[in-house]
Amino acid sequence: MIAPTGKTKRRRVIAGNWKMYKTQADTRAFFSAFLPLVDGVTDCDIVVAPPFTDIPAAVEAAKGTAVAISGQNVYWEKEGAFTGEISAGMLVEAGCRYTLIGHSERRQFFGDTDDTVLKKTKAALAAGLTPIVCVGEKLADYQAGNTEHICQTQFLGSSNSLTPEEFSRILLAYEPVWAIGTGHTATPEIASAVHKFLRSCAAARFSESLAANLRILYGGSVKPDNIKGLMAQEELDGVLVGGASLDPKSFASIVKDWPR
Ligand code: PEP
Repeated sequence: MIAPTGKTKRRRVIAGNWKMYKTQADTRAFFSAFLPLVDGVTDCDIVVAPPFTDIPAAVEAAKGTAVAISGQNVYWEKEGAFTGEISAGMLVEAGCRYTLIGHSERRQFFGDTDDTVLKKTKAALAAGLTPIVCVGEKLADYQAGNTEHICQTQFLGSSNSLTPEEFSRILLAYEPVWAIGTGHTATPEIASAVHKFLRSCAAARFSESLAANLRILYGGSVKPDNIKGLMAQEELDGVLVGGASLDPKSFASIVKDWPR
């Protein structure tokens, strides 16, 4: 949506990644506490990514609310002898509308590469999911001044590419690995500068207008006490929250307590 000032107004997204936490009973308890706290919030997209086994409980609990459910990973084939994997169609059938792809923990521990991230992204889009594609540099790369190079390569370095139409339907999450689960949040200024850089890469690869509409989330130790400063940055279109999304009160506060 292009605002009359000429500035692009992008709808904000607050997404929670539960990683490998919570049982189905925990999931139901979370939503019983969380949903009343965010009732009436209509000016941002709210997404929760539980473990696969909790998805049906989460979908059932969030039915009829503004909260959408996401997978944490997806495989690119539709079906087959791929033990332990879940297809995009399976996520859709279970009621998901989003999926995380290329989270740094998947890249570090489970072999995700820029090429597999691209294949997963295309498969998710083909099934109608909104991919939240994650990029971010490790501490050594940050300290060596390689943030832009690493993020650009993870984002657009694959030998293949998204089409402009596919690109228009993804969300990007900038998650510096040194900030994930460490309590060391990137300053709002650092995050904003990287978002700006990624947007410029998108403009060069696709077009100014597609880049202007790309929503880029920041992730890495986002908490109720730093959400205001982060979201005050025009370049931050939302956040991807790990640890602080596990508690209904703290996640609700992140959803609600930032400058509109
Ligand atoms: C994440 O898992 O994507 C994340 C950002 O974790 P945390 O908020 O705990 O740093």
